[in-house]
Amino acid sequence: MSATLTGKNLIAGRWQSSNGERFESRSPARESEVLGVFPSSSVEEARQAVAAAREAYPAWRRTSRIYRAELFDNLAQIVKREADNLARLMARECGKVVSECRAEVIEGLHMIQYVFGTGRMPIGEVLASEIAEKDAFMRRKPWGVVAVITPWNFPFAVPLWMLGPSLLEGNTVVFKPSEDTPAIGQRLAELFVEAGFPAGVLNLVHGAAETGEALVRDPGVNIVLFTGSYEVGHRIQQLSAEHYDRIVACEMGSKSAVIVCADARLDLAVNCALISAFKTSGQRCVSAGRILVAESLFDKFADKLISAARRLRIGDPLNSGNFTGPVIHRAAVEKIERYNALARAEGGQVLLDGGRMTDGEHAAGCYLSPFIYRMEHRPEVRVLREEVFGPHLALVPFKTNEDAVRIYNDTPYGLSMAVVTEDYRAMRMFREECEYGMGYVNLPCIGAEVHLPFGGVKKSGNGHPSAAGLIETVTHKTAWTVNHSTEVKMAQGLTTDIEGGPA
Ligand code: NAD
Repeated sequence: MSATLTGKNLIAGRWQSSNGERFESRSPARESEVLGVFPSSSVEEARQAVAAAREAYPAWRRTSRIYRAELFDNLAQIVKREADNLARLMARECGKVVSECRAEVIEGLHMIQYVFGTGRMPIGEVLASEIAEKDAFMRRKPWGVVAVITPWNFPFAVPLWMLGPSLLEGNTVVFKPSEDTPAIGQRLAELFVEAGFPAGVLNLVHGAAETGEALVRDPGVNIVLFTGSYEVGHRIQQLSAEHYDRIVACEMGSKSAVIVCADARLDLAVNCALISAFKTSGQRCVSAGRILVAESLFDKFADKLISAARRLRIGDPLNSGNFTGPVIHRAAVEKIERYNALARAEGGQVLLDGGRMTDGEHAAGCYLSPFIYRMEHRPEVRVLREEVFGPHLALVPFKTNEDAVRIYNDTPYGLSMAVVTEDYRAMRMFREECEYGMGYVNLPCIGAEVHLPFGGVKKSGNGHPSAAGLIETVTHKTAWTVNHSTEVKMAQGLTTDIEGGPA
């Protein structure tokens, strides 16, 4: 067992303890294990961090983009060196299985590599002008200070999706990791320092809602990059409306789904469903809370799925042989249990009565086994519309592919969907008619790659895809026009005669 970490904020290049309130980070696999104690940063500490980022901004903006990119190359080497340690720390702190944590570290590394590679790519475009002697350019410029507020379930990759484009483009950052994963957040900030990022360019403040809200309220912040629940994202949008020059990019919750058509390959469909619903114990933003299954295939599919779900290995996240670990904390266990009860109350026919696991190693942590039920689609059923964020799965029968589209779209969210079919016409119909940000065919509805757009519609996102896509959000486009003639010449035939014509 490792020693307990002392959490610190990083402000203007100095690691600072706080005299105020503190909070603990505990392992969800062994609730008695405290990983560290971290500052609940005050409004004043958040203000100091924003002021430090603002102070560092002009000098950072003036550095060469290639220099900034090369710092990311340094970071890539450090992350490669630290990959196993990072994966183990993440597994202990958030309960994801260590092999999955390692994949997340690799995903973060891919973002760093993407950012490094992008450093030598164009920062704008050369455009035509109506006037032959004019050169016209579109050039992207940074906005200023970015607040990065992130969730616990991807505590390494999601911050890097945001920090990478923001810093590459010349913005400075205040980063607030989730209060459920402060240790991995702090470790990430330490790696940036080691890679040579100058003081004040990346600042870190620990804390929960109050600290996040202090950042959002600060008029010194130009952009808020947020990933988390719809409720918090919407609150951030409302608070940000007070600031006339504020950009807010929100990636939020979902009620993602896999659609299993009548012609689906059964084993492929079961595999897609299990991974989509139960990897990370159903705690990915893109986790499937619903599998829509063609009525003609329903019984065969459900039998296979249930027998495979019974065999899933759920246990210690440090054992890479396990399929999944615990859920994040006791409050999550209780919330998921309430949804399991609601599924029964709303008429669900329980097919696998999962719930709290209390035997052996499970007794020490927040373990839940899969809960699966059949539910006929009705518009008012809450368990088919609300995000549960746990191993809680509805199997919903449908008659025609058109019904499947209607059922799929009947949630306030639109993040990720997968369709399992051999029929290319059906595949195209789902692609065109479903509301989603990420679509998959004959795959699970999880599995992002950093160079693809990552975002959603409706309550899932407000149109600023994360990862590589954020380069658009963290810069603004300027027009730059240069006249090479010795006379003023205007577009649209506008006269330049300032004396006026003959009377
Ligand atoms: P959360 O919304 O509870 O917290 C996210 C972050 O917001 C945390 O850092 C938290 O401290 C901060 N926060 C809370 N209240 C705040 C406030 N009033 N002002 C400013 N900041 C505040 O989410 P979580 O439980 O950490 O993560 C799970 C949620 O995140 C799920 O809904 C999941 O779907 C979503 N998620 C979405 C994506 C995506 O890309 N769409 C990715 C991962 C997770």
